[in-house]
Amino acid sequence: LDPESFADDSRAVVDFLAEYYRDVDKYPVRAADLEPGRLRKLLPDTAPELGEPLEHVLEDVRRDILPGLTHWQSPSFFAYFPMNASAAGFAGEMLSVGLNVVPFLWAASPAAAELETVVVDWMGNLLGLPRRLLFSGGGGGVLQGSTCEAVVCTLAAARDRALAKLGGHEAIMKLVVYASDQTHATFQKGARLVGIPPDNFRVIPTSAASGYGLTADAVRAVVDRDVASGLVPLYLCATVGTTGLGAVDPVRELGEVARRHGMWLHVDAAYAGSAAICPEFQGYLDGVELADSVSMNPHKWFLTNMDCCCLWVASPRHLTSALSTNPEYLKNVGTNGTGNKPAAAAIDYKDWQISLSRRFRAIKLWVVLRRYGAVGLRGHIRRHVTAAKWFERAVAADERFEVVVPRRFSLVCFRLQPRWSGDDAVDDVNRELLAAVNETGRAFMTHFVVDGKFVIRLAIGGAMTELRHVMDVWELLQGKAVEVLQATRY
Ligand code: PLP
Repeated sequence: LDPESFADDSRAVVDFLAEYYRDVDKYPVRAADLEPGRLRKLLPDTAPELGEPLEHVLEDVRRDILPGLTHWQSPSFFAYFPMNASAAGFAGEMLSVGLNVVPFLWAASPAAAELETVVVDWMGNLLGLPRRLLFSGGGGGVLQGSTCEAVVCTLAAARDRALAKLGGHEAIMKLVVYASDQTHATFQKGARLVGIPPDNFRVIPTSAASGYGLTADAVRAVVDRDVASGLVPLYLCATVGTTGLGAVDPVRELGEVARRHGMWLHVDAAYAGSAAICPEFQGYLDGVELADSVSMNPHKWFLTNMDCCCLWVASPRHLTSALSTNPEYLKNVGTNGTGNKPAAAAIDYKDWQISLSRRFRAIKLWVVLRRYGAVGLRGHIRRHVTAAKWFERAVAADERFEVVVPRRFSLVCFRLQPRWSGDDAVDDVNRELLAAVNETGRAFMTHFVVDGKFVIRLAIGGAMTELRHVMDVWELLQGKAVEVLQATRY
């Protein structure tokens, strides 16, 4: 790594990206309908024998790669959930990849491991988490790459805690995991990965009456049945801000059920956790002191570039006893001490996650927190919530449309509701409306299905998204609605 050419190449990439961000709203938001395999035809079959200048590579990115991308950072990207990028997130990411240290052990990069412990406590405090989930209160946190990884770790910790109590690995056949029909699919995958029998994953129905939140009564009924048949309740997931609809499970009530049955309670706030830095949203986490673990993704709506997931646990011991290893090649004075020097009270983050090697994510989140401050970050969240409120009101005021579930954060779920047609026809009209809007390339949204109804999701949260972009997509939707309704003769 030659420092001179490193600086030149990095500057060229920064210039390239600055131009990209200047123009990002000019690209079709969703990759235009290109034939699969297009890129393979454009690129050679083998890697080059000799190195090439960076400008040739960037030319190819511009010509061959950019047209095949869906532009997640476009201000008119409203699909899935946002994946934030920001100048601060980018600066932090540059420091992370530039320093390229690997804090799997405290001793492998002490300041990197320690910064992580500081930053997860800062984040926990901002979200209003109880002290028992923070290092300062006996719990603690880790930065992982995704909620999916974090969930597997908590399931493994819960499993081993339960098996230790039940006194043998055979008892795994009795362990049961509970989720709702709105819970993210990763919990089912995670349960499978840690050996929970597939038949012991309970998907409990929700309904419009509870805003698609999981009720304690519904959980109790299923748990009681399982206990009566000799099964052991293991793990309950409460989601604050579900993926499909942004619904909220009542954490306190679910926590009380979990406590009564000795279950591990995980609170998944992957998307909406960011909103909890605003006092007006902290009520959604009421009861979080009953949780064994909590996770949220700063890479979604917290101005932090991919990837970054915060996981907090009340009892680090349960996590580390499920995940720790102690091979000879990793033994060191910090962790193991020596004859005359005791082990330091150090965090070896390898024991808090699946992989050994890990990125220096803490520096990225630290830069974001320092550059924006809590005030700046709250402003970012509130700007999107205000835009979502505006959109929700506009939809509600147009009699051709309906808001399908009340908005809680910055996700609005809605659909066209031609009053005189049957359910299937309404779904078809909405499918066509969504396709018509996405085909323009001026905005990109995705859908969900609830109670058999096809609904369109407008997920606001892009770092460059302003109210005017939301107003534009509403105008676009109204225009396309006229066309679609005329074409389908409703
Ligand atoms: N949980 C919820 C509520 C989500 O919305 C998502 C993703 O959107 C996930 C979990 C999975 O997150 P990740 O992609 O970080 O694994």
